[in-house]
Amino acid sequence: MAIVEARNIRKYFGEVRAVDGVNLATREGEFLVLLGPSGCGKTTLLRMIAGLEKPSAGEIVIGAQVVNSLPPRARKIAMVFQSYALYPHMRVFNNIAFPLKAQGVPKKARKEKVEWAAAMFGIERLLDRKPRELSGGERQRVALARALVREPDVFLLDEPLSNLDAKLRTAARYELQQFQKRIGTTTIYVTHDQVEAMGLGDRIAVMNEGKLRQMGMPQEVYDEPADTFVASFLGSPPMNMVERNNDIVGFRPEHLLPTEVHGTSEHLVTFQFHLSRVEHLGAGRLLYGLLGAPFADQKVIANLASNVMIVFQPGMSYTFAVKTANLKFFDRATGLRIEPRPL
Ligand code: ATP
Repeated sequence: MAIVEARNIRKYFGEVRAVDGVNLATREGEFLVLLGPSGCGKTTLLRMIAGLEKPSAGEIVIGAQVVNSLPPRARKIAMVFQSYALYPHMRVFNNIAFPLKAQGVPKKARKEKVEWAAAMFGIERLLDRKPRELSGGERQRVALARALVREPDVFLLDEPLSNLDAKLRTAARYELQQFQKRIGTTTIYVTHDQVEAMGLGDRIAVMNEGKLRQMGMPQEVYDEPADTFVASFLGSPPMNMVERNNDIVGFRPEHLLPTEVHGTSEHLVTFQFHLSRVEHLGAGRLLYGLLGAPFADQKVIANLASNVMIVFQPGMSYTFAVKTANLKFFDRATGLRIEPRPL
């Protein structure tokens, strides 16, 4: 196990500032998710930690040692990419054993290690098959087992689940989380999928345009976003953002509810809500509409749970409310979070 740190790390490709001064540190044994939109620099940061990319500036520290000048194989890391290429002509056993063979581990020890890693992922019965005889999820597990046999101090995973279909992905996500807790190896996991990040991470590091915007526990980042980027990147549908003088006022769709649904003792801010469209989700409803004064004609979405039985007609106006505590304020110029203020 090891702590991984990035100290003011930068990577420029010509004019492109792929990673632009990132500082972060994992905790021992933590599952840290790097989350951000395509092109925000996540993969480049991960590749610098792995030693596959040389930083333009800054330091990478693994287990209290600056590793900038160490080659990947000396960093005690294991990396699994989106396209985890298994050797197609080799049986699963030999695929998993491959890194050990390359290290010169004796045959008996290799066999024990492979069996141990296979048991970790529940793939013991697949050891005699070729990769083409496996499902996507099974291949994935073989790739992880192959990374595991090297007993790395750090796991670096770059969207390893993105080749799986939605159902398998949910199962694989759970499995990965369980496995990581079992072995306790510090893990950095890259994804652009906020649902995945919320479900997997002990903490999430949210990146945009080469910069770290916020790092915190999933609920913390969701509930207390540091800026408008984080607020709108997490959550589906995203946080409503309405303009008011020099501020932006944000509130989550699930917090915008018909006034009668809120408790009577709550401190509420009420809005006129002109409903334009209702979308049925099965488990609830999304209501699309426009706010009345003083937020005239700004678009918002309300997300109602299935236990809200009120009938809503598009074209009509209703009184909706948000608890004062659920309003988040941001500076309109910088996008940064500011203190709450009266509306
Ligand atoms: P994705 O989720 O699409 O993989 P990402 O967040 O991982 O995106 P990176 O792959 O780190 O993003 O890329 C960050 C930026 O750096 C992008 O603008 C990309 O085009 C640029 N970039 C990455 N690698 C190179 C390279 N080898 N040469 C030039 N530009 C690069």
